[in-house]
Formats: sequence, structure tokens, C-alpha cells
Amino acid sequence: MVFTHDTDMTLMHAAALANTGPALGDEDREELPDLPALLAWMDRWEWTGARPTTAAEVDAVRALRPRLREIWSRDEEGLVEAANALLEEGRALPRLVRHGAFGWHVHATSDDAPFARRISVEVGMALVDVIRAGETDRLKVCAGDDCEDLLIDLSKNRSRKFCGGTCGTRANVAAYRARKASAG
Ligand SMILES: [Zn+2]
Ligand SMILES: [Zn+2]
Repeated sequence: MVFTHDTDMTLMHAAALANTGPALGDEDREELPDLPALLAWMDRWEWTGARPTTAAEVDAVRALRPRLREIWSRDEEGLVEAANALLEEGRALPRLVRHGAFGWHVHATSDDAPFARRISVEVGMALVDVIRAGETDRLKVCAGDDCEDLLIDLSKNRSRKFCGGTCGTRANVAAYRARKASAG
């Protein structure tokens, strides 16, 4: 855990959300094609509160993806602007809550606010933590060839380079082959 549990989780699911959409070398990728897919994604990340019911809500969540991608590429000043904009647009009103297995954490929207707004406000809140801690370099893009997936580096020594997909394995195999080739 680098930040608080809820901030770590938010940053991970923000990167995962961006990575459900079209990507470099995979322009047709769409892992949130419809409402059931979005609801399953919501369950996977243990979201509570109101559940989306319309295609428009799915569209609103999908529309966050390019925005997250753009935010990930910003420098510290830019991230400050993004965080403030997300919180203002979502009319964030932080409060402490406790539910399920989670201890005290912050919700900054009402539980019945539209899902896309709840996500964007949570991301805004998480960015506040990241910026205050001086840890903005933990927002990274995968170093794999032909991959621009987002990741959040929550490792102790900030060594994470690859997304959650196959990029890390591929890079290890390539490095191994290169070592073997130069040794032989
Ligand atoms: Zn909660
Ligand atoms: Zn990757």
C-alpha cells in the first residue's frame, strides 16, 4: 500500500478502466460493449451504490477512458488542474463512510449519483493524494512494445514498467533470448 487503501484501489481501477478501450495496435478493443459488461466490471472492482441502468450511462463511462489516458500523461501542474476540474465538475462533497469489509474511507459523491460521475470524482480525490504525496511519477504508461496501456506503479521501489497484460512476460522472454544469444 503506497497511499490509503481506497486511493490505491481507485488508481488501479482508473488504469484498468482506461485499458478496457481501444488501444495502440488494438483499435477495436472494447471490453465494455454493453450494460451487462459494465455491471460485471463494477462488481469486479467491488463498487457499491446505484447501478447503471441505461446505455447512456455506459457511454458516459466509456467517455472517461480517453480523458483518463490524457490525464495520465500530464505533469504535476497539469494533474493539479485535472484533479480540481474533476472535483468541481462532479460537485465533490467528501464524507467518511464505512461499509462491508472496508474501514473508514472517503466517498465524495452521493451513492445514487451517476456512475461515471462517481468514478471521475473518486479519481479526482485519488489525484489529490498522489499530488500531495509528491508521487505523480507513479502514473505510468506500459513500457511494452506496441502497448500504451496505463498502469499505476504501487511497488516499493517504483520499478513497475509493464501493464497487467502479457507485456512483462514478453519483455522477460526477449531479454532472456538476447542474453542467451550474446552468451552463445
Ligand atoms: Zn466505499
Ligand atoms: Zn502493456
